[in-house]
Amino acid sequence: MQRLIEGVHRFHKEEFGRYSALFRKLSKEGQNPHTLFITCADSRVLAELVTQSKPGDLFVVKNIGNIVPPASAVGSTNSTAAAIEFAVEVLRVNDIVVCGHSQCGAMTALLEPPSTNVALPHLAQWLKLATPVREILEKDYASLATPDERATAAAEENVLFALENLRTYPCVQARLADGSLSLHGWFFKIATAELFAFDPESRQFQKIAEPAA
Ligand code: ZN
Repeated sequence: MQRLIEGVHRFHKEEFGRYSALFRKLSKEGQNPHTLFITCADSRVLAELVTQSKPGDLFVVKNIGNIVPPASAVGSTNSTAAAIEFAVEVLRVNDIVVCGHSQCGAMTALLEPPSTNVALPHLAQWLKLATPVREILEKDYASLATPDERATAAAEENVLFALENLRTYPCVQARLADGSLSLHGWFFKIATAELFAFDPESRQFQKIAEPAA
């Protein structure tokens, strides 16, 4: 806790000056983020840092394993579904990014449920939503040798599964149909902080290229 408190003070002393006008403007005018960014709760995945986004830019949902439940599986208390509706219908974001990552504990747990004595009923229930990803891994990726390779493949397939599930939400369907919303699948490699985007043509995740000047 001490580190957090020191950070709060350091932020106000050293960083806030650069942002004070922006925060004041956002407090008056409200938020108008351009992107809904759905990523993992993992402490190593920092959407704003690696995309150099400012306050007001991203509407971020972090959950275990950046899972997007299909609309049919959503109960009235699902916070990810609530955030999707709000971002798409009210904030009118232009883009949704689902960003998985390397060394994702959720993917490892999905593939090899931990033999733990600790009861984690909510977590087990949540990961069940991604069962189809485990089935794809068993069917199509049996040749992968190492747990790390399997976890990476699972993270990538899980992003594609999330994009598929996003398309089951009526609010997303409507905005895709009128061309005002785009979906993107990304993958973050922790060791090098590189970002890869899914290219539907090659069906591969490719390193995000610098925009042409
Ligand atoms: Zn993760």
